[in-house]
Amino acid sequence: MTQNLDGFCYAVRSVVSDAVDLVYPPRCIVCKGMASQRVPLCMSCCQSLDRPLVDEVIRHIAAKNPEPAVDAAFALWIFEKNGPVQQIHRELKYGNRPYYGEIMGRIAGREIRESGGAQFDLIVPIPLHRSRFHDRGYNQSETIALGIQSILEMPLDASALIRTRRTRSQTGLSMSSRLENVENAFGVGRNPVPVGANVLLVDDIITTGSTVCSAARVLKESGVRSVTVAGVGFARV
Ligand SMILES: [Zn+2]
Repeated sequence: MTQNLDGFCYAVRSVVSDAVDLVYPPRCIVCKGMASQRVPLCMSCCQSLDRPLVDEVIRHIAAKNPEPAVDAAFALWIFEKNGPVQQIHRELKYGNRPYYGEIMGRIAGREIRESGGAQFDLIVPIPLHRSRFHDRGYNQSETIALGIQSILEMPLDASALIRTRRTRSQTGLSMSSRLENVENAFGVGRNPVPVGANVLLVDDIITTGSTVCSAARVLKESGVRSVTVAGVGFARV
């Protein structure tokens, strides 16, 4: 199937999902009240979701990964098994709702801006392998990156990195298997990232951090000065 036809099919599927949401406006998955945005969360539940502690994510990544190549890390919410963030993430990834990613990205973008740490030259999402992109029709990390970009107003390059091989899902793998699974899984894409750039690397859920570390290593080897990681969920594993 051509890229154009992929785009068309994705557009049709999006219209169907939009129509369903219009007829059945999403309910908040936490309190069952009316959701205030196009994500199934009301404003009050959205504000009360658990957040990682200060520096928790970067300390976790440094503890789990030898030579992490990541300089700082941000995650919006705590991701728990069967919790609200997992439910929304499942819809983003498997329920054809790319706009959930954009909305969560906008919330994350505001937090990053307010924390004063928004000094980046480029936003780069973790890429999907092209066969997985073909199956899903979009890259969930790119939708989050687009939401962040709309707030931080800085360049985004979704083809700065490529996935050089199709990896297994990291879910259920041991720490050493996770490291092995994503080792050498990324390469530089069509457009070289500017030497000396400060990059905001966007993933959906940060678990052990082995995926972002593998991608960050490629960026650093191509001359990037710093890599800050941003995700919408952080799983305490
Ligand atoms: Zn609620």
